[in-house]
Amino acid sequence: MKKKICPMCKSDNLTLDIGGQTGKYRCKKCGYLGPIVIESD
Ligand SMILES: [Zn+2]
Repeated sequence: MKKKICPMCKSDNLTLDIGGQTGKYRCKKCGYLGPIVIESD
């Protein structure tokens, strides 16, 4: 399974940044905004 995680804090608590560019996510934990990392399980 593939998992989306924050490159900064490795949290998976992410939301798609609506209104921004496609593929940008916001991390609810650390506030990171940008492309995310997809890891295989
Ligand atoms: Zn984060």
